[in-house]
Amino acid sequence: MGRTPHRRIGVMGGTFDPIHHGHLVTAEEAWKQFRLDLVLFIPSGHPPHKEDRRNLDPESRYLMTVIATADNPHFQVSRIEIDRPGPSYTIDTVRELHRIYGKEAQIFFITGADAILEILTWKEPEKVLQECTFIAATRPGYDLRRLEESLPEAERLRRATEPRVLIMEIPALAISSTDIRRRVREGRSIRYLVPEGVREFIEKNGFYR
Ligand code: ATP
Ligand code: MG
Repeated sequence: MGRTPHRRIGVMGGTFDPIHHGHLVTAEEAWKQFRLDLVLFIPSGHPPHKEDRRNLDPESRYLMTVIATADNPHFQVSRIEIDRPGPSYTIDTVRELHRIYGKEAQIFFITGADAILEILTWKEPEKVLQECTFIAATRPGYDLRRLEESLPEAERLRRATEPRVLIMEIPALAISSTDIRRRVREGRSIRYLVPEGVREFIEKNGFYR
């Protein structure tokens, strides 16, 4: 068997509209805590769960993700969802990653606690759970346990996912892309919420105004 350079692959999927320090802290923490070889940021193309509102175009979201991660040697950005026509499903992305990194590569899907509860709405959720491990980051305002209790599917989800979901504590970061877009629209500051290069890129292009 040849050398396998990347055997534990972290995946940080998102709209990244825009990417912010919440995403970056979460990815860095997962990389360290779970001894990942790298974290791959995968900006969504046409997000299947967010058809209700218009997102910034994929290229701009991709560029901001590249700017935000450029100085970190173990962060990379992937175009696989952006270059795929139509809506992207996690199962297709996981299969594509296994084609790229090999069947033996372990995929760790890093998500916020809110996002993990969307699993049930995914295409082929059981198959996704068979093929990768989840790292669920606890996030301010999203108490995973309380959310589980309030959902009817929670028990089923908990039993189905238990061996495959790792819980990770992250420093409290009440940052969201929604809040950043609102701040820009209202003329408030987003400095220190996003990397400086991302803030400059947003300003230069007049995004979210
Ligand atoms: P939006 O407000 O538009 O929904 P968002 O801030 O939630 O944006 P997404 O691109 O939707 O960002 O999220 C990508 C992933 O990052 C999801 O798994 C989400 O749970 C996680 N995430 C988002 N914000 C944080 C944060 N502050 N801390 C930890 N994880 C986060
Ligand atoms: Mg979100």
